[in-house]
Amino acid sequence: MQISELQISQVNKQIKALIKAGSFYGRKLEDAGIQSVSSQEDFEKLPFSEKNDLREAYPLGLMTAPEEDIVRIHSSSGTTGLPVIIPYTAKDVEDWAVMFARCYETAGITNKDRIQITPGYGLWTAGIGFQAGAEKLGAMVIPMGPGNTDKQLQMMTDMKSTVICATSSYALLLAEEIEKRGIKDKICLKKGVIGSERWGEKMRQRIRDELGIELYDIYGLTEVYGPGIGINCSYETGMHYWDDYLYIEIVDPVTLKPVPDGELGEIVITTLVKEGAPLIRYRTHDLSRIIPGICPCGSRFPRLDIIMGRTDDMMKIKGVNVFPSQIEEILREFPEVSSEYQIRISHLDGRDTMRLYVETNGRVDFLDLAKRIAGTVKSRIGFTPLVKVVELGLLPRSEKKSKRVIDERYE
Ligand SMILES: [Zn+2]
Repeated sequence: MQISELQISQVNKQIKALIKAGSFYGRKLEDAGIQSVSSQEDFEKLPFSEKNDLREAYPLGLMTAPEEDIVRIHSSSGTTGLPVIIPYTAKDVEDWAVMFARCYETAGITNKDRIQITPGYGLWTAGIGFQAGAEKLGAMVIPMGPGNTDKQLQMMTDMKSTVICATSSYALLLAEEIEKRGIKDKICLKKGVIGSERWGEKMRQRIRDELGIELYDIYGLTEVYGPGIGINCSYETGMHYWDDYLYIEIVDPVTLKPVPDGELGEIVITTLVKEGAPLIRYRTHDLSRIIPGICPCGSRFPRLDIIMGRTDDMMKIKGVNVFPSQIEEILREFPEVSSEYQIRISHLDGRDTMRLYVETNGRVDFLDLAKRIAGTVKSRIGFTPLVKVVELGLLPRSEKKSKRVIDERYE
């Protein structure tokens, strides 16, 4: 995605503020001797920022606006070490609500909807973001927070909630409870806004079928406002994101060079108007691609594909970056294979190879199936795996996705 003149001038303002505040990124820029950018080429020379940089700034090292302008902090929970603290000015809080309201609108939600919010409230950005956006839209908020399924269902029926905001796993739990209790006819839900962790098509289908609702993936991360920076529209052709607030690049996670639109890589985000803690070229480690062209809905906002996984899952085969989710996506198109598969990567004669094990029943021509799967991988991803078809039940069963990929190169 080409950076626009306006975006470049916005980036320059962010750069100026970061240098003035002497934050870690301001110092990075000074070390690199950069005070402004004037082209795409310049922009792509700017250093990246990483979660570790943010962690090292704990507690308030990211603060870029004067303290009297900071009205709130949020924090992303680190699984290891220190959390990241993100300061927000009043304008940041307002901008976030505007973006979030736009998400609801993109999902066709209006001020006549009743929005039940189940993500948590507190230090992290979930519940409060859903709420601020809904209030900006003018909808009625039912601010439940997580858990207490009895109460959730009581409010959902009595208040006639029309929209549920939840994680995919909690939406599924609610769907199952509704089914179990036989109260589906008392539920008025029409839409679900689901935090876009990676979730399978199977889960999506179950929630959609059991609740009879439309589902919308909402994208975001605490470091960059929070959830609400993008969402899919009813055409389900990827998530529109708000390029008046953010500039998004997709880069090859190994070379860190931007890839052409349409190609898979790591999402890198630059904030354009953030005051409390601007971020330049922030590596999210989320994998997706920019979807080229205009959405059938007519929106001018560009689109990101749904999140395909994390860069940590990436494999490089014969010079091509591959993610388990891409293989999974292709296998889903073959109804004759089971949901179990195994990927083995090895190094043979100086080249990386992939062996792909899939299961099917005895009524299928194994050789022909293997050939068709290998052909699809070749045409879709760009290399030919060695596909081995085995009998149903032969592959180990595991809940964990990671167990499906075995990298023998480093054993
Ligand atoms: Zn659209």
